[in-house]
Amino acid sequence: MCARRIRTVSKSTPTMEGAGVHLRRAFGFHNTEETDPFLLLDDFRNDRPEHFIQGFPWHPHRGLETITYMLEGSVEHADSIGNAGAIHPGGVQWMTAGRGIVHQEMPKPDKAGRMGGFQLWANLPADSKMMPPRYQEFADAEIPVAELENGVTAKVVCGEIGGVSGPVENVVIAPGYYDVSMPAGTTFAHAVPRGHSALAYVIAGAARFDPEDDSLYGNYSLVLWEDGDGISVRTAESPARFLLVTGHPLGEPVAWHGPIVMNTDEELRTAFAELQAGTFLKG
Ligand code: FE
Repeated sequence: MCARRIRTVSKSTPTMEGAGVHLRRAFGFHNTEETDPFLLLDDFRNDRPEHFIQGFPWHPHRGLETITYMLEGSVEHADSIGNAGAIHPGGVQWMTAGRGIVHQEMPKPDKAGRMGGFQLWANLPADSKMMPPRYQEFADAEIPVAELENGVTAKVVCGEIGGVSGPVENVVIAPGYYDVSMPAGTTFAHAVPRGHSALAYVIAGAARFDPEDDSLYGNYSLVLWEDGDGISVRTAESPARFLLVTGHPLGEPVAWHGPIVMNTDEELRTAFAELQAGTFLKG
């Protein structure tokens, strides 16, 4: 296997979203070619309820998927087509907004006042942007964990590792979404189809993400890889935990404003005109 080299490493940066939620953005609202088919990754780990309970009140989405994966606390959600519920620690909500949904997402702290999770945005290809909205929601116990060599584990939200397949299915970009934990002094290798994008976001400890470079990257680091047959990650004296995300790039034009991502400015104008006119929701 030709292990992928690192292309870039950066750190998520503090920003504010929704009605005043303090979070860290790993990427988003920049050059989408670098992470295609993924648009944005937000890290909302936080231990000060006053910095997140304002939440994300009613807002629209069209043309993309939002993937919320929780570690601590919960997110209560409700939407325009009558869905309501909560995402609890270890659970995931893979929401395909398609032709349009209006929803709210309200974080709630756990008993210790903490809340933590991640929201990834994945783009939809032109011929799926106006598909009917769809949810795939799974609790912690429904998401399998692959037990690999030397105590390495990978929770598989979507994709396949070591014969273990994740519950999220039928997503056009053929994504992989894994929560990987590595003890100190171990190696983790994973095949990624050539041409697919691959990125890692470190959430604890530190690891080496390049086969020919011993630099260690820790919490809040976003690693983007070059092309190759797969990725190889090594830990040194400390363990590491990171999210690994892969997917098939779309290579399509991106017209993006706020929570709506289309292919052309004309489609964007239509979406916002429909919001104004009250005709955005197509059922
Ligand atoms: Fe949203």
